[in-house]
Amino acid sequence: MEITGLIEDVRVKVKEWRSKGLSVGFVPTMGFLHEGHESLIVKAAAENDKVVVSDFVNPIQFGVNEDLASYPRDIEADKRLCEAAGADLIFHPIPETMYAPDFSTFVEAQHVSAELCGKSRPTHFRGVCTVVCKLFHIVMPDRAYFGQKDAQQLAVIRRMVRDLDMDIEIVGCPIIREADGLAKSSRNTYLNEEERQAALVLSKAVFYGEEMIKNGIVEADTVLTEMRRMIEAEPLAKIDYVEMVNADSIEKIEKAEGNVLIAVAVWIGTTRLIDNFIIEV
Ligand code: AMP
Repeated sequence: MEITGLIEDVRVKVKEWRSKGLSVGFVPTMGFLHEGHESLIVKAAAENDKVVVSDFVNPIQFGVNEDLASYPRDIEADKRLCEAAGADLIFHPIPETMYAPDFSTFVEAQHVSAELCGKSRPTHFRGVCTVVCKLFHIVMPDRAYFGQKDAQQLAVIRRMVRDLDMDIEIVGCPIIREADGLAKSSRNTYLNEEERQAALVLSKAVFYGEEMIKNGIVEADTVLTEMRRMIEAEPLAKIDYVEMVNADSIEKIEKAEGNVLIAVAVWIGTTRLIDNFIIEV
């Protein structure tokens, strides 16, 4: 496995692979890798001849008062995980490599970015689309792997790829959880012991909501009210949103019908966590 911070190195390597007829899978990440990321890399390695992982904390997807400076980083541990999971190349640029001082071109997937995280993080998906578009142009993969953990991000990327005719297959991968249910996240490291316990309320609410829908309760109002009540019973939790939307369009729906996404974002102390489930009704 190799690692580079240079765009040109990635281009040369991928061209060499392509000239031999090899397929390329790509896993974009912000590093501090855990088993969630690992599952994406393992899947990419199983489905492609070569795998590129990007490891880059993308400044333009963070709002001004968000956790860009404190976002956890550990490139040595990331290298070990990538190598063991079957990656061939890590792209680990510095921000200056990705963004010229007068950088001025952005990609925005409008409607799918409007609800859920787009409401509380208004410039977030513009930052995500822009960096993923750039990374796609650098790596030129056949397939790119994204976790359902960030379900709205997955919908936004699918929309961007469709709308801009990018010839890349987007592969969605299931949420990897801790044994007690908490969705794995680099941000879980912010939680102290008490908060870590309180954070279980997200997965509990998600599982409860899923159970309700499986039992035939389809009214969004009923399902979401019950889920909100459960989260509000946890003193350390503060709801950002608990919503039911169509999983492809990210438009609010009043009844569980079609491809349904129930997504939650909850503050546990000063840490904002997300979780969700998708169900075909
Ligand atoms: P991040 O480093 O948080 O930007 O995540 C990089 C990729 O890993 C995204 O596609 C995420 O959805 C995915 N990912 C993060 N956590 C998990 C998880 N617990 N299960 C599955 N995929 C995940």
